[in-house]
Amino acid sequence: MPLHFNDLDVISKTDGITSALIVPCNMCPAVTVAVREKKPFMQLFKSLLKSAPFENYLKELQHRLKENGVRTKIFRSYLYHQWFMCMWTSGRQKKLEKYTKQYEAVIVLGCESATETVREAVKSYNCKVIEGMEVTGIVNAKLKLQSPCNISFTDCKVIAKSKKEKRSLRVINKAVA
Ligand code: SF4
Repeated sequence: MPLHFNDLDVISKTDGITSALIVPCNMCPAVTVAVREKKPFMQLFKSLLKSAPFENYLKELQHRLKENGVRTKIFRSYLYHQWFMCMWTSGRQKKLEKYTKQYEAVIVLGCESATETVREAVKSYNCKVIEGMEVTGIVNAKLKLQSPCNISFTDCKVIAKSKKEKRSLRVINKAVA
């Protein structure tokens, strides 16, 4: 099941910045937003490629950033295999690298693996990487298909990350570094 997130304070982290590229992972963050708003994750009869609650979330974020003087653009991933930032192709990473050169900062909406994908893309030049969400646990839910072509999650629980798990992740990260 997907990861579950809390929002982080992006606005204060963009103080003094005038432009930012928002890079959303379309999978776990979109599920998180749909679950917390108790709305369908996908409404396939309306759109095959977008989750409406997450789209509203992105619009709202752009609006708040604009009010803080930050011009933004969303780095869109339309194809399903591009939805998972932890598994992007090198071509996709190169495209991101090209786009980020026009911005002072990149706002990542996703987990540490998504952030790592972005850090790799911007490592050769000075671009601030801002995390817009933090992982709180893993979603446990029942997938529900409803007429007409809605995909929702019900009976949702968040299995919190344990301290032990966080510690062992740090050990694994050190071992592979
Ligand atoms: S990058 Fe992270 S948030 Fe995105 S699909 Fe992979 S595990 Fe989920």
